[in-house]
Amino acid sequence: MTTATAHRARARLDGQLLLPGDAGYDEARTVWNAMVDRRPRMIVRCASVADVTLAVRTARELDLEIGVRCGGHNILGLAIPDDGLMIDLTPMGAVRIDGQRRLAWVQGGALLGALDRAAQAHGLATTAGNVSHTGVGGLTLGGGMGWLARQHGLACDNVVALTMVTADGDVVGASADENPDLFWGLRGGGGNFGVVTEFAFALHPTGTRTVVAELSFPADEAAPVLARWRDLATAAPREATFTASVGAGGGMVTVGFVWIGDPERGRRLVPALRALGRPATQRVTTPSYLELQRRDDSRQGHALRRYWKGHYLPGLPDGAIDALLRTEVDASLQAYGGAIADVGDEDTAFSHRDTRFEYVAATRWTDHADDEGRIAAARRSAAALDGFAAGAYVNALNDEGHAGVTRAYPAAKLARLTALKDAYDPGNVFHLNHNIRPSAR
Ligand code: FAD
Repeated sequence: MTTATAHRARARLDGQLLLPGDAGYDEARTVWNAMVDRRPRMIVRCASVADVTLAVRTARELDLEIGVRCGGHNILGLAIPDDGLMIDLTPMGAVRIDGQRRLAWVQGGALLGALDRAAQAHGLATTAGNVSHTGVGGLTLGGGMGWLARQHGLACDNVVALTMVTADGDVVGASADENPDLFWGLRGGGGNFGVVTEFAFALHPTGTRTVVAELSFPADEAAPVLARWRDLATAAPREATFTASVGAGGGMVTVGFVWIGDPERGRRLVPALRALGRPATQRVTTPSYLELQRRDDSRQGHALRRYWKGHYLPGLPDGAIDALLRTEVDASLQAYGGAIADVGDEDTAFSHRDTRFEYVAATRWTDHADDEGRIAAARRSAAALDGFAAGAYVNALNDEGHAGVTRAYPAAKLARLTALKDAYDPGNVFHLNHNIRPSAR
């Protein structure tokens, strides 16, 4: 049955069908986190919307679990279904720009780098994440935090329209005027409602210049530095996104900011940072926007084992700073606020817009034997911040299961998302995600 259906599907695809053993199969099932090693029964490398429709219908006919892959950066590797059908959107990675109208049409399998490069050719950009090999699909559907978010909102706030293939294989549009309920849910609700084949984004004339400031302090001098950094971060102009990181086990503490805009104005923030204490090292650079967007690509590269835990922090009281400084793994903070908080909390599925900082405790290693110890250390580090947290970013969730989903969405939001799930996917065909369960399940 599977073989006959697979052969029929193969004949009708614009793209490719890969079965175990086929050339390219292992490459297609490899994702960012090297801990993920699952074997789909078939991989449909979709080249068109019709391919996505065919893939959804084939999976349903064969009763196979569906995984949807864009950049493959979900830390649990949710895009890769064991013994299921993987909808691989990576061949659909094209980006088209209308510089006059300041719009980008981005296919559902595109990586952030493709969007950044195409938009920058017109001196334009929209909010995208900080590592260029991350997928536009997963990042945007969960929210999408990036260096432009305090100026222009999250990636999802810049989406003006989407095209989606439903659980029945139908093609629907979503925008403020078309299926507005779906438009609301696709901006923060993740991959719960269908397969998005195209996003339309608003672009902004951002130019190409940025400033990055990073000052490092020994951990034993860092508590007062972080307290004053917190106050600077809160008062900062929207062009600046303040960052802080604490090295595992009492290593150096680095504080700074990323500025997008006129570099002269950005540099004016540096003396206030220097006055925070006696920095051991300091670095102020002026990368181009594209260099900035690729700056962490190798450090955040593939082929390592990875684990992280995240929180949203509504503030950073001194107790939270003390807990942060005791971290056993690398921990980081990125400031929110600005245009993220301008959007009403009810306007999109994305939640916790009043958060002040996103916290992530992250660890990477190579040896399988270290799995347990590394994971436990990240969990303990994040647990020390539990009492200071209010919610979490859905795209930073890990293995929390439904408890994580209830942290990402307050109860009223989750109820509205559940109603939308009932309308678009009552059978929970799309469940390999941070799942909004339909009410009948
Ligand atoms: P995938 O694993 O391909 O997809 C994740 C899930 O999204 C899928 O399981 C599916 O449910 C859904 N999905 C993806 N594409 C589609 C689609 N077209 N239609 C329907 N469903 C879809 N987040 C930020 O906000 N800002 C950052 O700066 C940032 N930096 C990151 C850097 C790294 C190195 C990593 C690993 C993650 C980062 N993230 C960031 C988190 C990131 O947003 C999530 O990991 C996200 O899930 C990645 O999306 P993806 O398309 O690459 O992943």
